[in-house]
Amino acid sequence: MNEAAVAMESVALNPTLTVKGSFVRGVVEPYIRKKPRTAIKRVVIMGPPGVGKGTYATFLAPRLGLKHVVVGDLVRNEISQATPLGLQMADVVRQGKLIEDDVIMQLVFSHLKGLDGFLLDGMPRTLKQALALDAIVPLDLALNLSMDEEIMLRKACARRIGPANKVYNLAYVKKGMFDMPPHLPAKTWCDAVGRLFCKHDVEIRPNEDVQCPACTEGLSAREDDNPEVWHHRMQTYKSLTCPVLAHYAAKNMTVEFSINGDVKACAPRLLELLQEYGTRLRNKYSGSAVDHFLPSRI
Ligand SMILES: [Zn+2]
Repeated sequence: MNEAAVAMESVALNPTLTVKGSFVRGVVEPYIRKKPRTAIKRVVIMGPPGVGKGTYATFLAPRLGLKHVVVGDLVRNEISQATPLGLQMADVVRQGKLIEDDVIMQLVFSHLKGLDGFLLDGMPRTLKQALALDAIVPLDLALNLSMDEEIMLRKACARRIGPANKVYNLAYVKKGMFDMPPHLPAKTWCDAVGRLFCKHDVEIRPNEDVQCPACTEGLSAREDDNPEVWHHRMQTYKSLTCPVLAHYAAKNMTVEFSINGDVKACAPRLLELLQEYGTRLRNKYSGSAVDHFLPSRI
């Protein structure tokens, strides 16, 4: 463990401790809070492509008092603002190459340092990134979302983008205990025997895509939401990210969550799970009973 990480642990274990020394101060101070450490403040969200990381992170972050940091957005912002780092990345992207780990880490770390709590989405993708993150900003937990692969593929291929880049889904997946209705711009409804209908009273059959032309008007598929690209992404994900998951599992800081239904049903359950985890972690650090600090609103 390096000096900064040791200092972070000391702050975690003893909230009243003041860390002195210029090197340590520079790294640690943004994370020293006036109140005792409040458990889950530094979180990464992991999971295969198409599992819905962005959707879940958008739900969870404000409810846990965390800032949702999307690495892809940071890269796009930097490029569009033509900062020195942005110009460097634009060059790499133009040449069709992957942005190097070091450049991504520089960008992400400079962004995380000023934050009191974050939910990091899109990093770490490699063990190298995970180890670098540990040294700079030790995490409280790694949240790993998983889902049946066949269902993920069906959902990925039925994803559609609407106005203002909103994401919808035309697939109604029902398999075993999975019940994942489509996500449409307008509300759906059920009849007395449980059949599902769109706003225009067209029936949506289980394991089919929505057929109503009025519901699908103005929605378009992304070019890369097709089975070939999805399988390729999945292979890349497994080979690069599985060592990262193993690394966090060995440190006993992973929360596993298997998605088996609609985001409306699963997201509140996941929030509850994280709040319980947060309470346990906070009690471990502070030795105190539960206090008012963890958010409880869903
Ligand atoms: Zn319709």
